[in-house]
Amino acid sequence: MNHQSIWLILAGIALLLLCIAPLLFYVRRHRLQLQKANRRIGDLEQANRALELRRQADEDSPMPIIIIRANMPDCTIESVNPAFEHVTGHAASEVIGRSIWSLYPSVGGRKADKGLQALINDKRGGNAVVRSERRNGSPAWYSISASPLRDETGAVTHFVLAQHDVSEMKRYQAELELHANYDSLTGLANRALLRQRLEEAIAQARDHPGQKVWVAFIDLDRFKIVNDSLGRKAGDRLINTVAERLIHAVRESDTVARLGGDEFAVLMREADDSTVSAAMVDRLVQAIAHPASIDGHEFTLTCSIGIAVYPDNGEDAEKLIEYADIAMYSAKEHGRNNYQFYHAAMNERALARLQMEMALRGAVERGEFGLHYQPQVDLKTGNIVGMEALVHWKHPQLGIVPPGEFITLAEETGLIVQIGAWVMHEACRQNKAWQDAGLAQLRVAVNLSARQFAQPDLVDSVNQILQETGLSPHFLEVELTESLVMTGVERSLDVLRNLKAHGIQISIDDFGTGYSSLSYLKRFPIDVLKIDKSFVQDITSDPDDETIVSSIISLAHSLKLHVIAEGVESHEQLAFLEQNGCDEIQGYYFSRPVPPATFAQMLRQQKTLYPARPATLH
Ligand code: C2E
Ligand code: CA
Ligand code: CA
Repeated sequence: MNHQSIWLILAGIALLLLCIAPLLFYVRRHRLQLQKANRRIGDLEQANRALELRRQADEDSPMPIIIIRANMPDCTIESVNPAFEHVTGHAASEVIGRSIWSLYPSVGGRKADKGLQALINDKRGGNAVVRSERRNGSPAWYSISASPLRDETGAVTHFVLAQHDVSEMKRYQAELELHANYDSLTGLANRALLRQRLEEAIAQARDHPGQKVWVAFIDLDRFKIVNDSLGRKAGDRLINTVAERLIHAVRESDTVARLGGDEFAVLMREADDSTVSAAMVDRLVQAIAHPASIDGHEFTLTCSIGIAVYPDNGEDAEKLIEYADIAMYSAKEHGRNNYQFYHAAMNERALARLQMEMALRGAVERGEFGLHYQPQVDLKTGNIVGMEALVHWKHPQLGIVPPGEFITLAEETGLIVQIGAWVMHEACRQNKAWQDAGLAQLRVAVNLSARQFAQPDLVDSVNQILQETGLSPHFLEVELTESLVMTGVERSLDVLRNLKAHGIQISIDDFGTGYSSLSYLKRFPIDVLKIDKSFVQDITSDPDDETIVSSIISLAHSLKLHVIAEGVESHEQLAFLEQNGCDEIQGYYFSRPVPPATFAQMLRQQKTLYPARPATLH
């Protein structure tokens, strides 16, 4: 190969290269461009997919989503998703272009959605709860989660609001709060709310020296008897009646609370233009004392009220509540149906009461009770015809405690049921023993307390005692106070008829101190009426009592009732009762209540009211 041909070949190659290079370059560049384009397409596709996904999410989201412009104060709605339309009932066309605040109307004239406003104002994301209304006007609560959207410059132009309906939760919360603060039976404030309001009232009064706050504790007297004898439902209705009456008896600014069972409380606060006074407590007492009719049964309820006063008795809410409670017990001790203001000495009494209650438990088992018997004497013959059994407590430290000092406590704690059963058993046993010993055929009167009377198995247990002791029912008399019988009239009638059917005698104790009239008592199968000693004691000095006693005697006789005068201490009283035809007397004049041995001695000696009279006159 010659030189020339080599050059030719080289030149040819060079030419070829020159032609191919741009082509190669072009191909390579094209490939790169293609790759880039493909990548762009990929990106775009991805973006599209993401957008589609978002749109789909938006479309399919069960949660209403609203996009608004971040243009305060209007915040125009730009779009809403289908869930929004579906959940709220507002069509997109209705709301787009309107302000977001048209969806969350102000409540009570003020914007309820300060939280959301603040987020938009501050151009930041977060959560807020707003109150709204559904299309049908029912209230709704929404939890809104707001996320800002920014443009290329980073400025917030829009907000995405995801709206979550929390109405149910709110309702539940409200219900919980209701449970925490209100009594479910009456809807009144409960103890927790009373305390809270009392604390608020005290705080307010502190800023206004001289202003007082009163807490009145109200306990219905003998309510448990109604509850036990008529059943829970009737009891609940009675509680509701009392609640309504209390609400009507107080001022709007006062709080009435139910603390449980038959306990209520009223919080009375003073303001510049109103003071609290005893007259307001009187109103409470009177409101309750109105007769109430439940299931056709008439009840006359009374209550005992204890009052503690800020700042006189203390500055601490809890302490004031405790003091009002103590004062209420004192009111009970004062014979119920009254009110007492707390004073420091009551604290000591409350402590003593607690100690006594502890000592009273188990006293029956320890054999610490005893009975004294007081003779009842026939005014015509002067002979002992009956006796009343009176319990006392042989306290290991205090010695003999009279019934007046522990019966109320025993009644309140329910211990009376056990004590009363012991008394009944012992009185029947003793009477039978005297009869068996040939001393006399007397009837024995046993006092029945309200709690005992309310026992559903009262008649059965009395019968069982009669069987166990072998005493004939005609020699047993039960003494019931007038107010006890009148508390639940229909039930009383039932029980009394039942006792009567078994041959047991029935006597009305302390007659004249209650509210009932004799004609009303006519409905009850009663044998004996005991005129209360308060009338007897004044018959020789008070003409009114003279008239009362003489008319009780004649009315009782017209109803074929036997009349016993209690508390006869003097010869003058005796003479008056004799002249007015009273049947029997019981009192210190003839004999105090005495231990069984002394009583047996009296029977053996055939003690008489008229030792000076010839025997034929007896
Ligand atoms: P009460 O049923 O009215 O009993 C009569 C009370 O008057 C007795 O008081 C008696 O000692 C007293 N008394 C009798 N004669 C006279 C008198 O001439 N002048 C004066 N000033 N008082 C006289 P006591 O024994 O202190 O009993 C007080 C109350 O305790 C009784 O009043 C009765 O309600 C209750 N009680 C007594 N024993 C029992 C019981 O076994 N069960 C129940 N549930 N209560 C009882
Ligand atoms: Ca009695
Ligand atoms: Ca009496």
